[in-house]
Amino acid sequence: MTSAVADVHVEAKGSLQVKPGPILLMGAPGVGKGTQAKELVAKWGIPQISTGDLLRYNRDHGTPLGLKAKAIMAEGHLVPDELVNAMVAERLKQPDTANGYILDGFPRTLGQAKWLDEHIGAGPDGPGRKGGGGALPVIAVSITVGYNELLRRITGRRICPVCGTIYNIYLQPPKVDEKCDLDGTPLVRRSDDTEEVFRERMRTYESQTAPVVEHYRALGRFEEVDGAQAVSAVAAGVEAAVERLRSSGTKAAGTETKTK
Ligand code: AMP
Repeated sequence: MTSAVADVHVEAKGSLQVKPGPILLMGAPGVGKGTQAKELVAKWGIPQISTGDLLRYNRDHGTPLGLKAKAIMAEGHLVPDELVNAMVAERLKQPDTANGYILDGFPRTLGQAKWLDEHIGAGPDGPGRKGGGGALPVIAVSITVGYNELLRRITGRRICPVCGTIYNIYLQPPKVDEKCDLDGTPLVRRSDDTEEVFRERMRTYESQTAPVVEHYRALGRFEEVDGAQAVSAVAAGVEAAVERLRSSGTKAAGTETKTK
């Protein structure tokens, strides 16, 4: 199936006073969505659903979806909404989404956002009732980082192909050059983590995804977190934002708080 990806079962380490429900983790390429999503997974035991990871899995396994997505991803452009939406719909049917999930890198266009709002009932008319998430409304946390810092993060990013641990040769280098601290596997670089493709991904982000951030800001249930801090500080900011947004219930449209 298109969304088949090796599921990693993670025991929750933390306690959240409220059910996490559906959480959107938003931000430009390189802000640390994947890293922060993994922190939330470890803390709350809900799955991370990364459309980038699902698409890479399909691309690397040569599925029909992967064959369609390959060239588009290599250029830093977006895979068409209908393909990505269908992949997410399939993933949301899985029972591990019942108490909540983290959407990482989705929605990335207003078309995807409208589809999601309708699909899980996340819009202003009411909390989600389809597709898991514990019938709670979507909350959105946007991580912000400046352009030059993003470029450094993207070009320095290295990933362990076995366990998925993410490193950065400038900011969080492995103990031994280019080898994973956990299993010693040689680290790899994502093929789209070059400066040229980064610039194109940023153009795509500004034109197509920045309006999605504004969409959720206007709906309320939205916070921004400064991503230019240590990973643990960003994680604390994201977790605090989620706890506040969940415990404050549905806020009036247009209200927001900012964690800086
Ligand atoms: P990411 O790992 O989130 O940076 O995604 C890598 C690439 O996958 C992007 O540059 C896009 O080509 C594609 N992609 C990921 N998520 C989406 C999405 N929600 N909509 C369209 N394309 C996506």
